[in-house]
Amino acid sequence: MQLQDILYSQGFGTRRVCAGLVQQGWVETASGDPDAAFSACTEASAEFDVDDLRLKVQGVLWPYHAKAYIMLHKPAGTECSQKPSTYPSIYTLLPAPLRQRPCKGAIQGVQAVGRLDQDTTGLLLLSDDGQFIHRMSSPKKHVPKVYQVTTKHPVDERQIAALLAGVVLDDDPKPVRAAACSVVDSHRLSLTLTEGKYHQVKRMLAAVGNRVEALHRSRIGTLDLPADLAPGQWLWLSDADLHKLT
Ligand code: URA
Repeated sequence: MQLQDILYSQGFGTRRVCAGLVQQGWVETASGDPDAAFSACTEASAEFDVDDLRLKVQGVLWPYHAKAYIMLHKPAGTECSQKPSTYPSIYTLLPAPLRQRPCKGAIQGVQAVGRLDQDTTGLLLLSDDGQFIHRMSSPKKHVPKVYQVTTKHPVDERQIAALLAGVVLDDDPKPVRAAACSVVDSHRLSLTLTEGKYHQVKRMLAAVGNRVEALHRSRIGTLDLPADLAPGQWLWLSDADLHKLT
């Protein structure tokens, strides 16, 4: 693949911008021996095998990914929208190449898999793979999502039983139920949902006479938010991580 096309596919801008980056000496490559030194490549049409290429753009190492699958530790006070109304967008937390990856010829960038409320923290997946996003968001797939809920009032056995048995929300007569629910302490519980209705946790807790004070998503499928990933930080998902989502 030509170097300018590799850069374009990774979100470094239009093909013209990418060719310019190369010609101006901003792109270094190394291949073969893992200890091989990087050297500037100034030929935009130089061919590389993407499976055997290490790339530095403007001095920063950028691992090649045919498709982007990442996780973000969403901080409180951010919106999962490209056009936020009140709080900063989560997309501002990502480097430009992730926001500029092309999709079917258009610059579209990675998209969040579903949404978390502005005050919810925790594990959020993003990708530029439309099929993956569709699969993960499909109500038919029932991927379990685990939330750590802090409540205003003490949680009691009656509330837990009702959450597990199913509660009726205002927009649908069909009850929704927690796939699992366990008490952490008097004001905290761990709740597993396999659906993703609007404000579902908050509305379920309200339906049992309690109120959510803080909400954190800690797990999707069997993929946990790593303890050392600070709010606002992101990382690439490995193949093993992706496996945990199937
Ligand atoms: N349920 C909610 O109420 N809010 C979220 O952000 C996620 C699940």
